[in-house]
Amino acid sequence: MLQVRLELPHTNPTISKKPATRFHSAMKFSKWSDRIDNESGIINLMKDLGNAKQTPTQPLHMLGGGNPARIPAIEQYFRKEMENILQNGREFETLIGDYAGPQGSIRFAHAIANLFNSKFGWNISSENVAVTNGSQMAFTILFKLFSGQFSDGQFKRILLPLVPEYIGYSEADEDTARFTSQKPAILHTSDHAFKYKINFSNLEIDENISAICVSRPTNPTGNLIIDSEVSQLESLAVKHDIPLIIDGAYGLPFPAMVYADATVSWNENVILTLSLSKLGLPGTRTGIVIAAPEVIEYFVRANAITTLASGKFGSVLALNCVESEAILDLSENIIRPYYQRAGRHALDAIQTHFTSIPYKVHESEGAFFLWLWFQDMPISSEQLYENLKKRNVFIVPGNHFFPGLEQDWPHRFECIRISYTGREQTVEKGLQIVAQEVDRAYCSGSDQAS
Ligand code: PLP
Repeated sequence: MLQVRLELPHTNPTISKKPATRFHSAMKFSKWSDRIDNESGIINLMKDLGNAKQTPTQPLHMLGGGNPARIPAIEQYFRKEMENILQNGREFETLIGDYAGPQGSIRFAHAIANLFNSKFGWNISSENVAVTNGSQMAFTILFKLFSGQFSDGQFKRILLPLVPEYIGYSEADEDTARFTSQKPAILHTSDHAFKYKINFSNLEIDENISAICVSRPTNPTGNLIIDSEVSQLESLAVKHDIPLIIDGAYGLPFPAMVYADATVSWNENVILTLSLSKLGLPGTRTGIVIAAPEVIEYFVRANAITTLASGKFGSVLALNCVESEAILDLSENIIRPYYQRAGRHALDAIQTHFTSIPYKVHESEGAFFLWLWFQDMPISSEQLYENLKKRNVFIVPGNHFFPGLEQDWPHRFECIRISYTGREQTVEKGLQIVAQEVDRAYCSGSDQAS
């Protein structure tokens, strides 16, 4: 018999070290790349926020980002959960060593369904739940599913019934024309406060509208559409046979950053998106979609194609918290009071420092932002952003938050968003500098660009 002896090499193969070649400038990119280029305003802004640094002469006042606060009690809770995973047999190895399916962790989906059934009397199962790599990813899929070219050749759009609305919707797809929106009604609730309301009398839903989408509470304004408005939107969705997408990234039942009366409801026309990010786990990239099984089935397919499988880390880390329903307790008794307190502090700072400015602030009903309106300000909010950046204060200019609004509306250049997740002194000092710069703008007029 022929014997073959395999000789294994005794040395490791040498890996040649080639110097990296420079980017080839003649390389051609698709049309999608133009779309990304066109968004350079927002992307530059995000880069600015990411690159912002403390300098020895100028402390940083970051009022711009969407990162949640680092709440010690929440960090401790999830550190303990991680330790339990590490100590529990081979659980850690299973977590890192196996793919989840494209629907995400089925045990987590069960736990989510059970939570809603037991706490809110819903009647859903794991077939109504998909896990995505962050809820932003869910929007990319949803907007592709429900807008653009349909099989009958018609081009359909998503209706945003209330703007200002989340900046990330317009970025979620390569085609901004997928959205349409309308000006809201403005309710002046006190001398220095106002609130946007959906203008139901102008809300046109025809055969060109294929879905309605609203964030509740709203990023950037902290607005909360009330239960009766949700019911109205639900009825409109049912009447026109289109889905109502409710983005609960900050909402109910977790992380429950809701400071006014509200309940969470669902029916088969509603697609509810949730996230573990604002609960304190943005790094795990865990989004949750609750929808009719046929919508979930599309998610399973889209996830399989785009990401192969959903990440498991967030689902495993938060599993116990959802199964034990502790997630509701953490949200209501730690997260909500934390942000309510921070919001009150920011509002107090505004009252203290904005005395010489004609400002208005949106009613703070949820999330962790304040939306400030400087009516007839002689410079645009973009210019104000640039002026503040020079003083190492970062806010977000408001004009980016009006996706789908075609009408001219000077109001969009008169508003800014500030986040109050930073340390109290940082937020207060930042707001004091905002007040100085806005005051300077009103005093010196539109020629003030430096
Ligand atoms: N929806 C809203 C209103 C948001 O503000 C964000 C992020 O800031 C998201 C969705 C996406 O969050 P994530 O992808 O972290 O779940």
